[in-house]
Amino acid sequence: MNIIFYIIIFAMGTVFGSFLTLATYRIPLNQNITHEHSYCPSCKHKLNFLDLIPVLSYVFLGGKCRYCKKKIGSRYFIIETLTGISFVILALALNISVYNLTKIQLVEFSLGILYIIFLFLIGGIDIEHHTIDKRVLIYGVTIALLDIMYKYIACVDAGIYYNLNRIIIYICAIVILCLINIMKTKNNKTNYTMDLIITLIIISLFTYEITAILTILCTLLIIIIKNIINKIINKREKYIKELPIAFFVVSSNAIIVLIAFMFLLI
Ligand SMILES: [Zn+2]
Repeated sequence: MNIIFYIIIFAMGTVFGSFLTLATYRIPLNQNITHEHSYCPSCKHKLNFLDLIPVLSYVFLGGKCRYCKKKIGSRYFIIETLTGISFVILALALNISVYNLTKIQLVEFSLGILYIIFLFLIGGIDIEHHTIDKRVLIYGVTIALLDIMYKYIACVDAGIYYNLNRIIIYICAIVILCLINIMKTKNNKTNYTMDLIITLIIISLFTYEITAILTILCTLLIIIIKNIINKIINKREKYIKELPIAFFVVSSNAIIVLIAFMFLLI
């Protein structure tokens, strides 16, 4: 029974993943993400229910559009599968079981899902459009505040002291960065570095400072390895600015959290 429960959690994750592939493509283009029908990016044919089953549609259609037979990027399949797997890992880390599902587990699972969505949106949009979307950052700050409220209430209930100073410092930093961002923004161009720092603050709020530091170290390692590989295959070295650093940051954070979860599970 528990296995079926986890298969349902995986399926739920793939549905979220399917929505995320659409959102990462449409948000920076200012297209509607909820009302408009899904369509093939090459032939613009409306997709029906059978074309939209996460993971399975991609596998059964052989990674091609049913109508124009053009290849569909493997990122759809990868993001859907990865979201499904992240949901399962989160459920396992929280020790969720169909037999003893508590309210606390449900709240923590929901907050975890909101955070996974944030990571996928930041990484996906960076890969697709090389930018960090402001609306995703606002979403990130909102869910971080929700998470803080939950932890604060939980600590008060349990009679444990909760250090609010850390939160106040972070919120001040976000406000200052946003103000600098607004002042420095010219011709509607976004400031990638500033947005990257805000992303790191959100990561730090959610997964604590130690994880954020390890995330930065892991990101640096990825950039170094990528540069070495580029040199070996004689690829022209890209400017640091062109690298999808936000994508590296969220991937590193996911790796670090995953390792931490594995230690929890062992
Ligand atoms: Zn097509």
